[in-house]
Amino acid sequence: VYLVVFHLSFVMFVWSYGKTIFTSPATPSNEFCLSKADKEQYEKEERPESQQEILRRAAKDLPIYTTTASRAIRYCDRCQLIKPDRCHHCSACDVCVLKMDHHCPWVNNCVGFSNYKFFLLFLMYSLLYCLFVAATVLQYFIKFWTNELPDTHAKFHVLFLFFVAAMFFISILSLFSYHCWLVGKNRSTIETFRAPTFRNGPDKNGFSLGCSKNLREVFGDEKKYWLLPIFTSLGDGCNFPTRLVIMDPEQLAVSSQNEPAKSSVANQSFPTRPLSESQNRLLSGDCQWVETGPEEENVKSGAKKHIIVSLES
Ligand SMILES: [Zn+2]
Ligand SMILES: [Zn+2]
Repeated sequence: VYLVVFHLSFVMFVWSYGKTIFTSPATPSNEFCLSKADKEQYEKEERPESQQEILRRAAKDLPIYTTTASRAIRYCDRCQLIKPDRCHHCSACDVCVLKMDHHCPWVNNCVGFSNYKFFLLFLMYSLLYCLFVAATVLQYFIKFWTNELPDTHAKFHVLFLFFVAAMFFISILSLFSYHCWLVGKNRSTIETFRAPTFRNGPDKNGFSLGCSKNLREVFGDEKKYWLLPIFTSLGDGCNFPTRLVIMDPEQLAVSSQNEPAKSSVANQSFPTRPLSESQNRLLSGDCQWVETGPEEENVKSGAKKHIIVSLES
């Protein structure tokens, strides 16, 4: 049994490593490219405000919830497209990568929407493999220190193998636990360093839907595929369910400092709305990212914190 599991972990390790390396990064679909007329107009335009105007018009019907920190539409000059949420341009691959996490030199590929699950499994199976190797060598390693091993070159192979396995195990373990934490929070590495800006400002938890839903977003709904390097992530990579937070910063500061009990009561009464509704509200109007309609009245009339949970149906 031990040997079977040992070999199985090696096979899974190689399989997930291969999938991480050879899955090309997912790029935005054509709907995010500017039309020919818009592109020409954009290039002719000198003033950034007018360029933004063109982009706003083009982005009106796109499922975009985040902007740059200065509230501009995120546009990639290099690929000439409007960046979907969580998409970033990778200078190493020279493409815009959907839900880009980071460019990984170890796999010489971008880790993003298309292979994030494979990357996590690769880390997990390499951990398992290192553990097996270390455990197998451990008895000889102990014998080495108690001088029970015969005096041959194999002696040093044992030493070397054990240290390499242990070293890889420790470094991969820290990386793996970090990524487990990221999955739970529904954050990419890039988003940890720079929180995405929603209409209410930067929110590092903007895409978090709760731990279980976050996990399913990466690994899919069917548990039987979770441990296999087969693509089962939910969504298309361009469109992510968001948790849009509307807060009065002043009141929030007061409530979190002085009245923790009250704010937790407020937490329980968040209305839930379908994505389409909030989407329309977000993208309609003059794109000033100002809330209008009954929502605003709620906030003004004393609701301390008001969260719209938008779930993609
Ligand atoms: Zn790009
Ligand atoms: Zn890359």
